[in-house]
Amino acid sequence: MQTKLFIAGAWVEATGGTLDVVNPTTEAVLHQAPAASAADIDVAVQAARMAFKTWKRTTGTQRAVYLRAIAKSVQSKKESLARLETLQNGKPLPEALWDMDDVAACFEYYADLAEQLDTRQETSIALPHPDFSSLARLEPVGVVGQIIPWNYPLLMLAWKVAPALAAGCTSVLKPSELTPLTALELGSIALEVELPAGVLNIVTGGREAGAALANHAGIDKLAFTGSVATGRSVMQAATAGIKNVTLELGGKSPILVFDDADLEQAIEWIMFGIFWNKGEVCSATSRLLVQSGIAPTLFARLKLECEKISIGDPLEEGVLLGPLVSKGQFNKVQNYFEIAQTEGLTLLTGGKRPAHLATGFFLEPTVYTNVPSTSRLWTEEIFGPVLVAQTFDTAIQALELANNSNFGLGAAVLSTNLKRAEHIARELEAGIVWINCSQPTFCQAPWGGFKQSGIGRELGHWGLENYLETKQITTYNSNKPWGWYIK
Ligand code: NAD
Repeated sequence: MQTKLFIAGAWVEATGGTLDVVNPTTEAVLHQAPAASAADIDVAVQAARMAFKTWKRTTGTQRAVYLRAIAKSVQSKKESLARLETLQNGKPLPEALWDMDDVAACFEYYADLAEQLDTRQETSIALPHPDFSSLARLEPVGVVGQIIPWNYPLLMLAWKVAPALAAGCTSVLKPSELTPLTALELGSIALEVELPAGVLNIVTGGREAGAALANHAGIDKLAFTGSVATGRSVMQAATAGIKNVTLELGGKSPILVFDDADLEQAIEWIMFGIFWNKGEVCSATSRLLVQSGIAPTLFARLKLECEKISIGDPLEEGVLLGPLVSKGQFNKVQNYFEIAQTEGLTLLTGGKRPAHLATGFFLEPTVYTNVPSTSRLWTEEIFGPVLVAQTFDTAIQALELANNSNFGLGAAVLSTNLKRAEHIARELEAGIVWINCSQPTFCQAPWGGFKQSGIGRELGHWGLENYLETKQITTYNSNKPWGWYIK
């Protein structure tokens, strides 16, 4: 495990001390990672600025070679990277292995888009004046500051770094202080594939390091994923230099289950939507809306299935729910259990630490029913394995309940009436809507939220465009004098 920052293609001692990275399963310190100071961030930004001078002149095809090499290397190290991800994050190992496949696929996908960029870098524009011609040229935005959270440590890095490098930008990336270890491993991979020095810089550190990066005058664009509160600070930091900014923030996504839904499938997707990755998923469908007719049967079955989930060491085979990422997150979710008690909510299942696990940040899969829309558990993002449910009678009522939120990241609708489901999907105020499923994510499709869930879209060609500027080049092609001042 790395003890230095990755700057300008080399391992550099951090001047901000160290960060304790804790294994959430054992509560023991796993590693002391380097903590970047504002001065270290400055060195990284200078390195990225220097590298941009040449990286921006490479072709997409040349950049694709590096992206494919990174994908290949991630695949070859899949087992060890996944294990490290599980050790620092607590997600079950099969989920971490799946993440590594997604990381490699994301680098491959943006390699394709980088190659395609060569064929559409310049497009001519039809003008209504015969003496002029014009073209639109796509160019990289510049040096990007990328700040990511802890729930999908290496995958969030891939979503940021792959499109940025594909576009011809250079990057200074700061992973979460809770999970910096796999990001640092990507520094080793960058060295292995001989990525030119300074194209990618990885600076680990806490809030201060993030703020130093967000406020640095040498950054042209900020790409942030994290909480709404931090997103607000990043947006404020961007105002000074009028920096281009994209924000992927939190959510409180609804899942609507109609009477005609297939019960087995509904239970599966409800559970996948909230317990996958321990519910530490921005798009987790954490608000369940069930049509009254199916509600008693569905809740009874949901309780039964929740109580069967195997909780424990995420490296152990068969475990489906690992510990929350940190003591802080564990306390935050437990605090919601206390709020639920104060509010007098009906607990269907869970609501406590599992009796057999005295150590580690473990909590049971938890479901509350009949939760009013005024409850803090209904309105606030909990970011843990906690589902809140309500019932509805009509589709109009369901939509009103679903759309009554400050967030608008994801939503799901389960019904065997596809026509109705498609209509509901169009009416939902969310950037991502799943029909008859919840959470499957593909790097080809756009990702991002309405309302306070963020600004801009990642993934797909939208993800690449985030990192491109459009330049107009207009030419006067005539020998005739223009004749305005000089007659
Ligand atoms: P967070 O906002 O606390 O931290 C995110 C990152 O910002 C970390 O790297 C942190 O060190 C850094 N940071 C903290 N203060 C900063 C500041 N003042 N300036 C700049 N950077 C700063 O979020 P978190 O707890 O790491 O992650 C959980 C949140 O992320 C949830 O709200 C979740 O919904 C959101 N999230 C959103 C998406 C999405 O795609 N929309 C994906 C994953 C997570």
